[in-house]
Parts: sequence; C-alpha cells; structure tokens
Amino acid sequence: MSNEVQEKRIAIFGSTGSIGKQALEVIAANPDKFSVEVLTAHQNDALLIEQAMKFNPNIVVIGDDNKYNTVKNALSGTDIKVFAGEKSLEEVASMDCYDFMLAAIVGYAGLKPTLNAIENGKTVGLANKETLVVAGDIVMRKAVENRVPVIPVDSEHSAIFQCLVGETRNRIEKIILTASGGPFIGRKPNYLVNVKREHALQHPNWTMGAKITIDSATLMNKGLEMIEAKWLFNLQPEQVQVVIHPQSIIHSMVQFEDGSIKAQMGLPDMKLPIQYAMAFPKRIKNDFPRMDFKKINNLTFEEPDVKTFRNLSLATDALFKGGNLPCIMNAANEIAVYAFLRNRINFLDMTDVIEKTMDAVTFIEKPSLQEYFDSDGEARNFAADLIKL
Ligand code: NAD
Ligand code: MG
Repeated sequence: MSNEVQEKRIAIFGSTGSIGKQALEVIAANPDKFSVEVLTAHQNDALLIEQAMKFNPNIVVIGDDNKYNTVKNALSGTDIKVFAGEKSLEEVASMDCYDFMLAAIVGYAGLKPTLNAIENGKTVGLANKETLVVAGDIVMRKAVENRVPVIPVDSEHSAIFQCLVGETRNRIEKIILTASGGPFIGRKPNYLVNVKREHALQHPNWTMGAKITIDSATLMNKGLEMIEAKWLFNLQPEQVQVVIHPQSIIHSMVQFEDGSIKAQMGLPDMKLPIQYAMAFPKRIKNDFPRMDFKKINNLTFEEPDVKTFRNLSLATDALFKGGNLPCIMNAANEIAVYAFLRNRINFLDMTDVIEKTMDAVTFIEKPSLQEYFDSDGEARNFAADLIKL
C-alpha cells in the first residue's frame, strides 16, 4: 500500500476565475492527489470547454442558459455531463460525485451552492468570502452540525488557520489581519475622486478578479475579511485588528493569551493557500518561487487611514452591529463595484451608496436564511435605485 493521500475528488465552483484557474494549475501538478469532478463557469464558455477537455470532469455547469448549446455541442464527443443555469449550480453542489468543493465563485452567487455542499457533508475550501459576510452564522452552524471542515483559501485566513494548527486548546487574544493598502495607499479624497477603473484595477502585489481588485483599492476587501475572520475563527469583533503591511509578506498573525504572536509568511502567491486547503492536513511539495530574506530588507506596518478609506469603517460598524447589516453592506457593495466598473459612478461614490443603503434597509438582529436572502434583494434594489441603474 502506498502511503500517499487518497485521490481527492474536487469540484471547482468558479473554475474560470482567478482562483479557479490557479486551482487547476495546482491539480495539474498533482494528478496523483486530485481529480477534477465538477467545473462551473458563469459566462466564459470557451474557457470552460477548454478546461473540460483538459481535465475530463464528470460534470460541467455553465451559469448562463444561453450558452448551454455551445458547451453541449463542444463536449458531445465526451461523456461529460453538461448543465446550465443557477438552479443547476445548487443541484450539482448536492451531488455525490465529489468530496471537496473549492468555493471560488465571486459574490453572493456563491452562497447557495456552498450551503448545499455543507449540507451534503462536503469539505469546503472557501475562497468566496462573501458567503460568510452574508450569512456567516448560518453557514458556520450548518458546518458544525454536518461536521464539515471549512478551510479558508483567502490568504489572510489561511495564514491564521496555519498559525492555529496545534493550538486547539489555546485561546486567541486577537488576530491581526494584514492589508497591502492597495494601489491608492497614502492617497486622499481629492485624488481618489478622479480615479478611473483602469487605475483601480492595477493591484501592486496580487493579480485577481475585477471585483476583489476594486474591493482591495477601497479597502472594502479588508472589511469583508474582518467579518469572514469573525465567523471562521469564532471571534468577538474586538479581537479582529487590521494593520497595513504594503509588502504582503506576512499574510496575517495570531496573538495568543501569553502575548506570543505567530505569523505565516511567504511570497504573495494564491496557489499556496489554494494548495494548502486542498491538501490539508498535508503539505505537499511544489516548485513555487521561494522567499529570500536577503532580498527582503524592509517589512513595514502602519495604521489604516479609515477617514479616507471609509469602507473600512462601514465594515467595522457592520462587524460590531452584526445581524443582517453585513449582508446589506455586501449587497450594496456588489452593486456599487459593478457600477464603478461600468464607469457609472466615481470611486468615492461607492462608499456613499453603501452607507446610504446600510442606513435605509431595515435592520434585523437575528435573521433567518430567508431574511438574509430578502435583505440582499432589498439592499440591491435600494442601491441600484440610488445609482439609477
Ligand atoms: P473572478 O471574477 O476571477 O472569478 C469568478 C468566478 O465565478 C468565475 O469562474 C465566474 O464564471 C464565476 N461567477 C461569477 N459570477 C457568477 C454568478 N453570478 N454565478 C455563478 N458563477 C459566477 O474572481 P476571483 O478573483 O477568482 O475571486 C473568487 C472569490 O475568491 C471571490 O469571492 C474573492 O473575494 C475570493 N478571493 C480571491 C482571491 C484572488 O486572488 N483572486 C484572493 C482571495 C479571495
Ligand atoms: Mg485576502
């Protein structure tokens, strides 16, 4: 008998995105450890077809119904099953053909498939932070009920998760989430008001999907991550701290009750947290570039400028107030980011849209899942009306 890990059957929800593509690179480098069972895409039929031809999954799902025939025809010479539409994503998430879901859809759209995976006992590698921002209490409760591990893929949360291995009996005093500060670090509102989408899409340290890149430029990404961390690690809001660390070498830290701080470090490369989540509890060998301390002579830290990057204070309010407020904030943010990406509003307008929506939509302290869905819809409509979409 070999002592290698048994081949894990992987479903990548959002395989055509930045995380999804990097996950496929990890799988291609480790064919003895992982097999691809499910691939899903929203619009990009050409890439989904190419990935399916290469990895020969059991099932592919194309979100956009209009593209069903193109995908079906292209894969007609194979025995790959093809589904289309939002409902199919949820149904496939409940199927038996896989063990591990990589939740790599962007935004609220990732919530329902991930909930179904958890309810069906699948291990989840969670890139889709919005799932926990929208309904973290319900998602984590269901994970506990179904004894399902939720393993973070977000680099900061993967860092914290790695720092906590072997520390189950030890209490966390606080966690320190590091933030690069994005492309506009040090800038003030008079500059930000004129920032264009092309400029905001240039992140200094990471290449990512468009939505998270804008969230990183506004610091909303760090706000979403504070809420994500609260649910993943069962923390009180005051235990979550953010520090700007422009070099993105320390991916985050945990401070324990004795004052000792553990950090996880490395070059910024999402393939590492993706691989760690898929292979957990093992670490597997790879040939990713290594960090060289002789070349890194300056690791710096500073306070975030929450007066300029007000999204971070809105997210802190949502973190402390809880209930459906993070869900409302997330919905308004999704609408605002897509409006900015379509040049409909300016950079600073995004924050105004989010703030007004958070003030307007009815607060619910202990929402049911249905109430989260309704709050999301209400917040989207309100934000879209503000922007006149
Ligand atoms: P992306 O935009 O590059 O890819 C998104 C994927 O989701 C694509 O496969 C797309 O087809 C699919 N998708 C989009 N809208 C959909 C919808 N309505 N229904 C079904 N599928 C849909 O995004 P990304 O950068 O890969 O990020 C994915 C998630 O991972 C996000 O939640 C993001 O916050 C998180 N994340 C990303 C990174 C990164 O480096 N890219 C790092 C940490 C966390
Ligand atoms: Mg992150």
